[in-house]
Amino acid sequence: MKPVLMIHAMSEDILRLPLAEYTLTFDDGLYSQWAFIEHLIRVPTDKVFFVSTKFLCTGEQASTFIPSSAAHDKARSGNYEDFMTPAQVQQLINAPGCYVGGHGHAHLKLREFPRLIDRSQAMIQDTVMMLAEFQRMFSYTPTKFCFPYNETLDGLYAAVVRRYGFTDLYGRERIPVETLLHTPSPLSDL
Ligand SMILES: [Zn+2]
Repeated sequence: MKPVLMIHAMSEDILRLPLAEYTLTFDDGLYSQWAFIEHLIRVPTDKVFFVSTKFLCTGEQASTFIPSSAAHDKARSGNYEDFMTPAQVQQLINAPGCYVGGHGHAHLKLREFPRLIDRSQAMIQDTVMMLAEFQRMFSYTPTKFCFPYNETLDGLYAAVVRRYGFTDLYGRERIPVETLLHTPSPLSDL
């Protein structure tokens, strides 16, 4: 098993790393990841793209790349230009060596729900919605899942998504690509 790298916004710098030594995981369905797909596809290793089904772009995409946290902030005010389109996700589903996994529907901050009952309900509703959206858009059921914000809620989230058929779960155990680039990790997913 190769060590697993965690990548959010893609950049030229990342392409210069010895990427084939790692399993590559890409969080959040950012358009910058798609923008480098021609290079990434040639790296002889598994690539997993974790998509939040609510955060997909249906119009024009951005011409400059911003960090994931900023992309989420923009999307929450209605601008999804920093995310992939459903058509691009569909191509990733079909591409050799590439896998598309779930990353929640609405990329919820579950710790913001103070009561356990509300957290559990939100987690279940979000998981059901994500699976319904994967079916609606792609007729596809993912089996890999990455916890939004790498938040596992002490095992509770894993128990929920396993019940919904997810078998390969990813979180904080991954190596942030920033540690190889010697730049600070984005605050959003710490
Ligand atoms: Zn995320």
